[in-house]
Amino acid sequence: MKKTKYPIKWEKENFSIKIFCSIPNIATGILLKAGNSNFIIDPGDGILRDLNNELKKADLLEISDVFVTHGHHDHVGGVWSLLTYLRVMDKKSPLVIHYPKGCLEIVHIHNAFQTVYFNNISYKIHLKEIDAGKPFSSKKVLIKPFPVIHKEYLSDHKSTRQVPALGYKFTFNNIKICYGGDTAYCEDLVKQARNSDLAILEAGHDDDTPDEMHMTISEAKTIGESAKEYYLVHVPE
Ligand SMILES: [Zn+2]
Ligand SMILES: [Zn+2]
Repeated sequence: MKKTKYPIKWEKENFSIKIFCSIPNIATGILLKAGNSNFIIDPGDGILRDLNNELKKADLLEISDVFVTHGHHDHVGGVWSLLTYLRVMDKKSPLVIHYPKGCLEIVHIHNAFQTVYFNNISYKIHLKEIDAGKPFSSKKVLIKPFPVIHKEYLSDHKSTRQVPALGYKFTFNNIKICYGGDTAYCEDLVKQARNSDLAILEAGHDDDTPDEMHMTISEAKTIGESAKEYYLVHVPE
């Protein structure tokens, strides 16, 4: 399969998404723009470089929401530098970090940040743990989180466990973008991707035998074809 070329940019009216990169085990980084609002999705390593290339400093400082699908390093590796950078740049407006319930990586990165900088942080950080699939909104964007199936190996390299993991569907002015995060084929994703204007689907499995971690290219394509447009991301390089 041909290498996906990043960045990928998609837009409809004043709703757009830019995937700076999505490489399994290395990094993900996504910027969602709805009108004048900017959201970050899965801030992996390199997110600061990409945001700085993309946004004016004033817009970067106004980023209001971060959406984390799960705690694997290729999705949260940039959180520490993002929080610190915003402090150094004297961000004033609050930042909300949405993450799946039980995602210890986010809780501990945030705790460490608060411990290190204590009462020397220029902006408020609100951690918003997401439990079930209840929709909510931020800056006129409706967000529907949904559970997905994503596992990781334990230290014996044989047994696995489910990690707290979500996909998100974002709706703005009736335009729908569905991002599944890392997931095996699952009915919740099938349902949310259907009829979306854009579905962003991982095809992180490197062979044709499905497992409970990632989708194969053909599984991801089947789901993608039920949306109006789709991109396959997180394809191993
Ligand atoms: Zn990943
Ligand atoms: Zn993962």
